[in-house]
Amino acid sequence: MQASAFTYPATIAAIDIGGTKIAGATVTFDGSDAAPVVDNYVTVPTLPQRGGDAVLASVVEVARTLVETRPDCVGIGVDAAGIVNPKDGSITYGNGLMPGWTGQPLRQRLKDELGLPAAAMGDVQAHALGEMRWGVVGKERQSCLLIAVGTGLGGAFIVDGHVVRGRHGAAGHFGHSLHAAAAGIMCQCGSQGHAECVTSGTAISAIYQGLTVTDRLDPALMGDTVSARAAKGEKHAIEVLHFCGRALGEAIGSWCNIIDPECVVLSGTVTKAGPAWRDAIDEGFAAQILQPLSDIPILQGALGGDAPLIGAAENLRDVMQTWALDY
Ligand SMILES: [Zn+2]
Repeated sequence: MQASAFTYPATIAAIDIGGTKIAGATVTFDGSDAAPVVDNYVTVPTLPQRGGDAVLASVVEVARTLVETRPDCVGIGVDAAGIVNPKDGSITYGNGLMPGWTGQPLRQRLKDELGLPAAAMGDVQAHALGEMRWGVVGKERQSCLLIAVGTGLGGAFIVDGHVVRGRHGAAGHFGHSLHAAAAGIMCQCGSQGHAECVTSGTAISAIYQGLTVTDRLDPALMGDTVSARAAKGEKHAIEVLHFCGRALGEAIGSWCNIIDPECVVLSGTVTKAGPAWRDAIDEGFAAQILQPLSDIPILQGALGGDAPLIGAAENLRDVMQTWALDY
């Protein structure tokens, strides 16, 4: 199928599939420089323990609801946790938190069930694309490194305005690169010594408890509790946030030495951790960044939960406008 002409205004059904919830909305572009309109929000719980078949059925229902609400939808843009195959939009790999998710034909099922073009990408990749096109990155920049700090440490990077997806769809797994402070610590991925072990929200909780990320952690002492205690002046909490923030800053500095992006964007729940954490990022970054690159700004994401929805919609728009694929 050849790339088709794209007419405006254009409404796209956008869906963001996470481990906790499946969020959907319609995203409408008017073809101008005005930001897209995101509305008709729908949210259902993912309940991943039901298995991949049931999760995909819920995704199809969310898409159906959106298309029934806006019958003028031109297609479906979807993003998902796990690794999404850039060629066919299937799930190359879903981690242990999403049993039966690996191999699910995400894009093809949506296309077949709804009879509309569909495009799929990784959730952090979509987040980066949303912030790049309509968020904090700004129209004057064409590259960025987005780091998502939550339960794990996700990432994505954009070069010349487009997300680098990689052969398997896995480009941007910065959390699984070596970090000196993580030497000898087992990672959730099965290897050891990875940045995620000392920089994620789970790492903050684990280190606070004197444990590591693969240990059983006290759910009453997760990252948000550590942040709250630091805000009240608790020395141990402040020291842990400083350690993890500095470790993340060092990692970001070394990744920037590889990519040399125009900016870094921070997103995810841990970005609310407070000044002890945020100041330590700048300290660690300064310690590792090559001097000529030291002016790379580290920004806070601006779009929140709309970022992946807008990014997933932009991905569909890119596919329909520019790629001669059978989308
Ligand atoms: Zn790892």
